Amino acid sequence: MKILVSVKRVIDYNVKVRVKADNTDVDLSNVKMALNPFCEIAVEEAIRLKEAGVASEVVVVSVGPKAVQEQLRTALALGADRAIQIDTDTMPEPLNVAKLLAKVVEAEQPGLVILGKQSIDSDNNQTGQMLAALTGRPQGTFAYALKVEGAPDNGKAVVTREVDGGLRTLSLELPAIVTTDLRLNEPRYAKLSDIMKAKKKPLEVKTPADLGVELKQHIELLQVEAPAARQAGIKVNSVDALVDKLKNEAKVI
Ligand code: AMP
Repeated sequence: MKILVSVKRVIDYNVKVRVKADNTDVDLSNVKMALNPFCEIAVEEAIRLKEAGVASEVVVVSVGPKAVQEQLRTALALGADRAIQIDTDTMPEPLNVAKLLAKVVEAEQPGLVILGKQSIDSDNNQTGQMLAALTGRPQGTFAYALKVEGAPDNGKAVVTREVDGGLRTLSLELPAIVTTDLRLNEPRYAKLSDIMKAKKKPLEVKTPADLGVELKQHIELLQVEAPAARQAGIKVNSVDALVDKLKNEAKVI
């Protein structure tokens, strides 16, 4: 069974995000970029399925400008077999990404597509769900545990999801779409030797036109604002003083 993993290049989660002076967007100049953490979990899960003998090939795909090849190489160093970049001038909105991925799914026919549950830069949480709708495949979102049974014939993906107050387990007929939650696994680090080997693994570049997709803009980013600066706290001398302030000033108790 082939697994397709969709990965996004985002600002590194350790970086303190700066907003451009004109509030039009986040300032990405000289900022460290990385693999979206939920996508890293998706890559790890696919590699574990390959190591367990369930998957025969792991293909990673990313949509965006040439720079996304850096994250594709990271995924190849982690253990993916080959990569596809879909070359676009800017990072497209989720519907466009989903349309492009749907065409890759049509061409590659993976038994399973694994995506992150959300990208940490724009927090959309849309692409996996849209891809499932466009391809007509069942979806298990926010996976906390994933098992594949009976593949390749009559295969099922058993997805356990964290929901309010408990866990919910679904059985999806393959081919299916799964999106990863934080606790699905702990991604490995790439070894230096694997980083070197990844440079030689195949990376194919396609354009939206090659896939027959016309990108349309449906969403306009109006403004980006940094969160309000936190005010300094104060020290109180006793528990009684704290309770008094919580009761009479903050009025929270
Ligand atoms: P989002 O819907 O933007 O929150 O993203 C959810 C997931 O969709 C991500 O974790 C990726 O797996 C995938 N995705 C979103 N944007 C891209 C992109 N430009 N290229 C590849 N995968 C993407």
